[in-house]
Amino acid sequence: MAKINTAGVDTERVKERLDEHKTKMKLSLKACAHCTLCAESCFLYMARDKDPKYTPSYKFLNSIGLLYKKKGMVDKVTLGEIRDNVWERCALCTRCYCPLGINIPEMIALARSICREQGVYPRFDRE
Ligand code: SF4
Ligand code: SF4
Repeated sequence: MAKINTAGVDTERVKERLDEHKTKMKLSLKACAHCTLCAESCFLYMARDKDPKYTPSYKFLNSIGLLYKKKGMVDKVTLGEIRDNVWERCALCTRCYCPLGINIPEMIALARSICREQGVYPRFDRE
């Protein structure tokens, strides 16, 4: 298996943050049935011609879900991808609705907080 270059990422701290929210995070990830019923409650998904990458579940599974799957062992590139998911594709308006009761915005906010702590967040001077 290729070694992940985690240089510049405090992976211990990422793991710590994940552990703090482990129960809720695990339950949410396990509960998601990939039904995409949350999709149409997201105005950005609707505004982007129903681009699957704007589905609320996509955003939460590919942010906090990814961090959890990788047990916090992520590199800067992965954190950059997560940043795009949780900032560029989400306004954190909290309007998405999951019939199974998953609090998607809370999960996205957690991913934002972890990224921010690692110095990965939107910058206006990005190209
Ligand atoms: S978050 Fe909820 S509504 Fe969205 S895909 Fe998962 S189970 Fe379905
Ligand atoms: S919180 Fe994010 S994912 Fe949920 S409806 Fe708002 S923009 Fe869409």
